[in-house]
Amino acid sequence: MLDKVLIANRGEIALRILRACKELGIKTVAVHSKADRELMHVRLADEAVCIGPASSAQSYLHIPALISAAEVTDASAIHPGYGFLSENADFAEQVERSGFKFIGPRADTIRLMGDKVSAIRAMKEAGVPTVPGSNGPLGDDGDANLATARRIGYPVIIKAASGGGGRGMRVVHSEGSLLSAISITRTEASAAFGDGTVYMEKFLEKPRHVEVQVLADGQGNAIHLFDRDCSLQRRHQKVLEEAPAPGIDPAAREKVLTACRDACIDINYRGAGTFEFLYEDGEFFFIEMNTRVQVEHPVTEMVTGVDIVKEQLRIAAGMPLSITQDDVKINGHSFECRINAEDARTFMPSPGKITLYHPPGGLGVRMDSHLYTGYTVPPHYDSLIGKLITWGEDRDIALTRMRNALDELLVEGIKTNIDLHKDLVRDSYFRQGGVTIHYLEKKLES
Ligand code: ADP
Repeated sequence: MLDKVLIANRGEIALRILRACKELGIKTVAVHSKADRELMHVRLADEAVCIGPASSAQSYLHIPALISAAEVTDASAIHPGYGFLSENADFAEQVERSGFKFIGPRADTIRLMGDKVSAIRAMKEAGVPTVPGSNGPLGDDGDANLATARRIGYPVIIKAASGGGGRGMRVVHSEGSLLSAISITRTEASAAFGDGTVYMEKFLEKPRHVEVQVLADGQGNAIHLFDRDCSLQRRHQKVLEEAPAPGIDPAAREKVLTACRDACIDINYRGAGTFEFLYEDGEFFFIEMNTRVQVEHPVTEMVTGVDIVKEQLRIAAGMPLSITQDDVKINGHSFECRINAEDARTFMPSPGKITLYHPPGGLGVRMDSHLYTGYTVPPHYDSLIGKLITWGEDRDIALTRMRNALDELLVEGIKTNIDLHKDLVRDSYFRQGGVTIHYLEKKLES
């Protein structure tokens, strides 16, 4: 097993990783910015190193500072968590070149999946269903691009190959605006991601976001851990997730799960990963792969009983998967509400001092959060302050538990989106299951 892991992240996920390390008897190093001395995992880690000022660019994204911290503490591996450097192939490469294990896929896999055009191509070859599209980057020939759009059929979406976080996309409804949309998206993508490569896809008008969790050991073994539904989104940011995705056609599900597992073996994937799909009219369409642990991984843990972070640590230590596909069964249903430090109506961030924190409890209730009474949420980072997760024997029980847990949860001193979640879990359409990715925004408008 690994001897000592440096956790290159902050907040709830740093604490989540620390807990998994402790269970496996692995020593931990917390790294933090000057604004993050008071983080819960910094207090609990075996060692802590301050790696720079509050700004992420000078701390959590500063590769030399992270590698030096691993060197001075004699860590054996680095866990990147999610966000920050977790999908940065150069970071993975430098970590391994410096003699540490990177807890994630090999750098070339991260690079392959980081470029959406090459990711889609690789997945298509591996037999994963993709969205009808340009099958590659768009060139400068206007007539050819018009012909491609005509073949696909309007509306189409122009997407940046290097895009992320819901940025670098433009929907086109008719021929008249296609060429200008391509050139604007290209210019924006060059400015934002340093890469003007764009491609075209059919724009699906009422899809759900359904994703598949996988684990692979890079030694030829891969399994899927079933699916999650993350359709409740605002500005392409997920708000509330569940596992399994409700009301999916069983044959289509079985096919896509098997395709994802086979694709992992095909590309010799290593670590935890997520295949993201749009699901419409009983069909799955691959949009991208995330080569890291996801924020919403706990809902999968709750229904499968598999500790995804512990599996990541084992895989990085060179151990084969501890479970086979036949061992993985779905038991019950799980929901996750992302609790953010933000105004429930305007969504403006709301950092500040927590005057009272009271997490909910009881059977089937899990709170993944670094909060405590007296903690000050700094203004410099993502507004996620915790994830409230519930489990139940079926969807109704899990949802009832979520309703009750949200009523118990107290976070005072700052504004939070708890009221938004209270409203969502009582929403009649959401309770039926299967809303589309546009549902939340439409509801917020009304
Ligand atoms: P990012 O990496 O920025 O998250 P994705 O490719 O995952 O980009 O797309 C983000 C979101 O944009 C999707 O969850 C979906 O809401 C929307 N989207 C992307 N592609 C399409 C498409 N072809 N049709 C409809 N919506 C899409």
